Amino acid sequence: MFTRKSFSKLYEGVMEPFKIIGNVYFVGTFPASSHLIDTGEGLILIDTGYSDTLFLLINSIYKLGFSPYDVKYIIHTHWHGDHTEATAAFCHLTGAKTYIGKKDAEKVKQHFIPDYLLEEGDVVSLGNTQIEVMETPGHTEGTISLFFKTTENGKTYNVGTFGGAGANTLVPERYDFEGCREAYIDSLNKLRTRKVDVFIGNHVWNNDTEVKSEILRTTGENKFIDSNLWGEFLDFCENRLKEILERENKQ
Ligand SMILES: [Zn+2]
Repeated sequence: MFTRKSFSKLYEGVMEPFKIIGNVYFVGTFPASSHLIDTGEGLILIDTGYSDTLFLLINSIYKLGFSPYDVKYIIHTHWHGDHTEATAAFCHLTGAKTYIGKKDAEKVKQHFIPDYLLEEGDVVSLGNTQIEVMETPGHTEGTISLFFKTTENGKTYNVGTFGGAGANTLVPERYDFEGCREAYIDSLNKLRTRKVDVFIGNHVWNNDTEVKSEILRTTGENKFIDSNLWGEFLDFCENRLKEILERENKQ
């Protein structure tokens, strides 16, 4: 678990879109995940992906029977291009409005100009869905994590993201901001206070999207429902930072 694949060309990372649970759908690629929420009064998209995979995103939305023109809001987990590059073109096409964490507002301007900025405790509401925002700096200063509920077969599930798990910016030559390591640990502790039944990663390796989608498709068993994975993933993130620190101490 928690291992990655790489591709020479981004569009080779094509993935079949599918319903994860309730009103939550996967519309991303191997290089970067995107999720679609059908609120009953319009769609919310979480992250858009690389510009090279914009056509895959649009195709995935159509394949599920939705229209990209019904996307009202796009929420971005952080400013990096793998989550935001496709946004400008998507919004030009559809008129969707964009959200991002307040502290990523300046840096994201190299990819798109955000309409709204999000802070701790903000709630993005549309139709049947209320998405709570938690500031979780570390990977970038403005990384946000998102929490909302979805219902399937009369059961309600807590869905959660960790908006910036990557340790690639926790090494000094790639710091997004001073104090990012301490902030990352604080964020992990904050994230642990949430109960998450369905963890949706912003990269497929976070939650084994590929394997689980295949099991769901072939057997109907939904392994995305897993109340332990959230904690396990946060432990994995913490251990990875510890390993970086240990390597440094040995040098
Ligand atoms: Zn990133």
